[in-house]
Order: sequence, then C-alpha cells, then structure tokens
Amino acid sequence: MAVTRTFSIIKPDATRRNLTGAVTKMLEDAGLRVVASKRIHMTKEQAEGFYAVHKERPFFGELCEFMTSGPVVVQVLEGEDAVKRNRDIMGATNPADAAEGTIRKTFAEGIEANSVHGSDSDENAAIEIAYFFKPEEIVG
Ligand code: UDP
Repeated sequence: MAVTRTFSIIKPDATRRNLTGAVTKMLEDAGLRVVASKRIHMTKEQAEGFYAVHKERPFFGELCEFMTSGPVVVQVLEGEDAVKRNRDIMGATNPADAAEGTIRKTFAEGIEANSVHGSDSDENAAIEIAYFFKPEEIVG
C-alpha cells in the first residue's frame, strides 16, 4: 500500500473542549503522521469556499457558521492509504452511527458538531491541502 496524504480538520466543538491532543493521539495511534498543522479561525469566506460542494445542501449555512464559531486545527496527515485510514478512525458522519473506538463515536456532539473532517478521496485531499497549506509548510 502506498504512503499518501490526506487533509484533516479538528473542528470547533473539539478545540472548545480542549481535545486537540486527544484527537491527534487517536490519529497517530491509527498509523497517521502529522506532517503539517496549524490552528486558525476560519473566515466565513474560507468556510464557504471549503464546503462549496455542499452549497445546495440544507445544512450549508449552519455548517459554515459552526466552522467559524471557534478555532480549528487544520492538518496534513501522512500514512499508508491515508484517506481510508483517516476515514476509518474518524467514523460515520453521524456519531450515532459511528463504530466504537472511532473519533466521532468517542467525542462528537452531533451530526454537525462531529469533531473532525477528513478528505474523502486522494483528489479532494490534494485540493483541500492546497486550500490551507503552502508546499513549504508540509514537512514529511
Ligand atoms: N453535516 C451536517 N448535517 C448533515 C450532514 C452533514 O451538519 O445532515 C455536516 C457535518 O459536520 C459533516 C459535514 O457537514 O461532517 C460534511 O458532510 P459530509 O456528508 O461530507 O460528511 P463527512 O465526509 O464529514 O463525514
């Protein structure tokens, strides 16, 4: 299996509860390496651009409000089959459906405040990484 990269966000519900370290430990324990990380407070424009694929969905406005409600930690994660590995440790979007031992089952407050984002394909990972990081900010 090839070593690849994915993009992760520790969302405002998790930073508010001081869970940055706990979430990162679960990512690391799952075999992912943090090769870039920064804490930012997203602007409305940044959030709307990031979630542009969801523009027509009924939850778009609220989601962008939530994502700008506090700081987030954006990260680039590296590991074997990183996109799938990260999706597996994240768990299902709705924590009620997430498997035991996943980040969302352990920490999420609800379907919106679900603690983490993770890219869903290698293509989107590349786009999302480039949205937040310059190449020189990623140190593998
Ligand atoms: N979301 C929401 N309501 C929904 C579905 C999704 O608020 O009914 C939010 C949730 O924070 C989710 C994000 O929108 O993580 C993106 O949704 P997606 O379907 O891409 O889920 P993910 O890939 O994050 O599991």
